[in-house]
Amino acid sequence: MDSLPQEDLDKISALLDQREKDLLVDINREANQRDDYAQLATEAPDPGDSAFADLSTDLDNAAIGRDVVELRAIRRAKEHIENGSYGTCMDCSEAIPIERLMAQPIAERCARCQQIFEKSHPASGRGASL
Ligand SMILES: [Zn+2]
Repeated sequence: MDSLPQEDLDKISALLDQREKDLLVDINREANQRDDYAQLATEAPDPGDSAFADLSTDLDNAAIGRDVVELRAIRRAKEHIENGSYGTCMDCSEAIPIERLMAQPIAERCARCQQIFEKSHPASGRGASL
C-alpha cells in the first residue's frame, strides 16, 4: 500500500490541528455551564478512554456531543498519521483518495465503504457526516 507523501501528511496535520483548536474553543464556549465536561474534553489524556465515550453519550447538549465526537475522530486521525496507517480505509484497506482526505481529514473510510456503513447504521446519525 502506498503511504501518503510527507507533504500531504503535513498539510493534513495542519488541518487537523486547526480544526481541533476550533472545536476546543466551541466546546469550551458551549460548555460554560458544564465545567466538568469541558475539562474532560480538553484534558483526557487518552483519546480512546472511556471518559470520552461516556462524555459523548451522557451529554444532553447535542452540539457539544457532536464536537466531542469529531474531536475524538481528529485525535484518532492524528494517531493514524503517527503510526503510518492514515489514509487507509478501515473497512477495505484501500487507500482513501487524497482529495477526499483534504476535504474531510477525519475520513476513516473510502467513499464507497462510508456509504455502505451509513446504510447499515442508519441510527448512528450522530457526529460528523463524512
Ligand atoms: Zn473502503
